[in-house]
Amino acid sequence: MKAVPVELSRGGHRSVVDPAMPTEGPMVDSFGRVHDDLRISVTDRCNLRCVYCMPEDGMTFLAPRSLLTFDEVVRVVAVARGLGVRAVRLTGGEPLVRRGLHRLVDRLAALDMDDISITTNGILLESAVEDLVASGLTRVNVSCDSLRPERFAAIRRRGDLDTVLTAMDAVESAGLPPVKVNVVLIRGVNDDEILDFAAFARTTGRSVRFIEFMPLDAQGAWRRDQLVPGAEVLQRIASRWPVAAVEGDDDRAPAERYRFVDGQGEIGVISSVTQPFCGTCNRLRLTADGAVRNCLFSDDELDVRAILRGGGSDDAVALVLRRAVWGKRPGHGIDDPGFLRPVRSMSMIGG
Ligand code: SAM
Repeated sequence: MKAVPVELSRGGHRSVVDPAMPTEGPMVDSFGRVHDDLRISVTDRCNLRCVYCMPEDGMTFLAPRSLLTFDEVVRVVAVARGLGVRAVRLTGGEPLVRRGLHRLVDRLAALDMDDISITTNGILLESAVEDLVASGLTRVNVSCDSLRPERFAAIRRRGDLDTVLTAMDAVESAGLPPVKVNVVLIRGVNDDEILDFAAFARTTGRSVRFIEFMPLDAQGAWRRDQLVPGAEVLQRIASRWPVAAVEGDDDRAPAERYRFVDGQGEIGVISSVTQPFCGTCNRLRLTADGAVRNCLFSDDELDVRAILRGGGSDDAVALVLRRAVWGKRPGHGIDDPGFLRPVRSMSMIGG
C-alpha cells in the first residue's frame, strides 16, 4: 500500500496531503496559479521604526538560533529552484542588518536564478552595495516615504533622508538599473507629496511605487480611512502629467505600472487593499524562522525549519513548499466580514 505523506504544521498538528495536489511540475495552487517567486525574510529586526510598521519601543525579536542559517536558506531555495522558482527577493525586517548578506547572494546566484533582488530601507545600503552587486544582486527596491527631511524622520523615527538618497545613487553607480522607490502613503501624513514623488520619478528615472497602507502594522493601529487608494493617486498624478498603462506588463507583478505620456519615466501603484491582485499572485514567502507562508494575510504556515534541523530530505522540503502553495486561498479576504489580521505583522513576515 502507498504511504500517504503526512507532515507537521507549526503548532504541531499532523495533516494529510491532499491527493489532488500535483507532486511533479511547477508549484501550482488549487486555482491554477503557478508560483515562481519566493520572498525570503532574513531577519525580523530593523534599524528603523516606521510608524506604519512597528511601535517605537517594545518589539520583541526572534532569538538568533531561531533564524534560518544561510546554509538552511540556500537549501530551501535550491529545492524551490527545482520546483520552478526563478526569482527571489530578500527582505525583512531590514535585510541589511543581517551580517554578510552578500555571502547569501553569492550562493543564491550559483543556483542560476533569473532575478535576485532586495527590498531595503537604504540606511546600510551605500556601503554594502558593491559587494552585493559583485555577488549577483540584480535589482534594488528602496523604501522612502517622504522627500522632506523632517517628515522622513517623523515617519521612520530613525535614520535620515540624505543617507537613503545617497544610497540610491550608489546603487546606480554600481551598475544596477534605477532603484524602485516604495512609498507607503498615509492620509494626512504624506499624501500631500504624491506630486513631489511623481516629479522625483520624472527627474531621476526611478519608478516610484505608491503602496496602500495595509493592516499589517505591529501596533494594530491601522484604519481604513488612513489608506490612500491607488486610483486616487493615479488620478492626482494624471491630472498634472498624463500617464498611460505600461503595455505588455507582467500582470503577476504587484504594481500596476504607468508611464508618463511625454516619455519622462514611470510610476506604479500597489493597490493591495482596494484592488487586490490575488488572482494573479505567484508569490510564496519564507519567514526568517523558517515558516513557509502563502500569503501576507494568512496565518497558515508550514514549518520547514523542523525538517531542515531534523535531518529531513529534500523531498520533504519540496512537499512543504508544494503544500503551502496548494493550500493558498483565492484572495487575502481583507474585505470579508470575518477577516482577522494575521498574528504576525509585516516585519515578522517579510514584506
Ligand atoms: N526594511 C525593508 C524596507 O523598509 O524596505 C524591507 C522590509 S519592509 C517590511 C518591506 C516593505 O513593506 C517596505 O516598502 C515597507 O514600507 C512596507 N510596509 C511595511 N509595513 C507596511 C504596511 N503596514 N502597509 C504597507 N506597506 C508596509
